[in-house]
Amino acid sequence: MQIQSELNFKPYPISNIQHLNSNSYLLSFQRDFDFHAGQILALKIADADTPRYYSIASGINDPQIDILFNVKPGSTFSPRLAGLVPGDLLQVSSPAGMFLGTAGPDIWIAAGTGIAPFRSMMRSGLSNGKILLQGASAPESLYFAEEFRAALGEAYVPCLSRHSQPGIFHGRVTDYLRQLDQIDTEKTHYLCGSAEMVVDTRDILTERGVPFGKVLAEVYF
Ligand SMILES: Cc1cc2nc3c(=O)[nH]c(=O)nc-3n(C[C@H](O)[C@H](O)[C@H](O)COP(=O)(O)OP(=O)(O)OC[C@H]3O[C@@H](n4cnc5c(N)ncnc54)[C@H](O)[C@@H]3O)c2cc1C
Repeated sequence: MQIQSELNFKPYPISNIQHLNSNSYLLSFQRDFDFHAGQILALKIADADTPRYYSIASGINDPQIDILFNVKPGSTFSPRLAGLVPGDLLQVSSPAGMFLGTAGPDIWIAAGTGIAPFRSMMRSGLSNGKILLQGASAPESLYFAEEFRAALGEAYVPCLSRHSQPGIFHGRVTDYLRQLDQIDTEKTHYLCGSAEMVVDTRDILTERGVPFGKVLAEVYF
């Protein structure tokens, strides 16, 4: 990731902001730059803001950039982001980051808004041969579930920790991994979510024999 002083920001007018559930939003603006699926952007609203990082949730051929974000109650930036309306300007950095999708048969594991880079990879034509575990507390937080189901079929495994629903694993992605008889130690596992989710998931995978170098993580903090 680039350090803040190296980031160049450019203003983009917001084209759409969609309220997805009580505290999650999908913000969009038209893009005029290329990026790799899995990359992030730094965002500011005012020049004086400390930038915050967000994964790009749209595909490399989509005309717009989508950003999926949660409002963290009592925090300084995300509530202001949620208050923007179409036409407001957002300061956007050039794309950065090395959590990049491949065409290989990787395993994707996400929790909460950590699904964003995998949506970018899926929409960029990289979903062939993938398995996706998507964790959320409630059904309304299984973001883009229908898109993933259509692209991945049986290889899409939604997990709900606080709701029981037919056809959906009841528990966290970590619970799902723990109850598997076998874990594929040859494949690369991509993890994205909170620090707690990434650390717990990486521990399970490495304890079950996945080499450390085959576990790649994007940690949201
Ligand atoms: C690589 C990466 C990708 C991310 N992608 C997403 C995403 O796609 N969707 C999503 O919802 N979230 C994402 N996040 C988390 C996001 O960047 C924010 O942390 C989150 O939205 C909460 O921001 P906040 O300002 O509301 O909360 P705050 O608690 O105010 O700030 C969150 C973090 O920003 C830093 N920070 C706060 N104030 C300062 C300060 N004055 N100076 C320096 N640093 C400060 C701290 O690290 C703090 O933990 C990502 C984080 C990272 C690192």
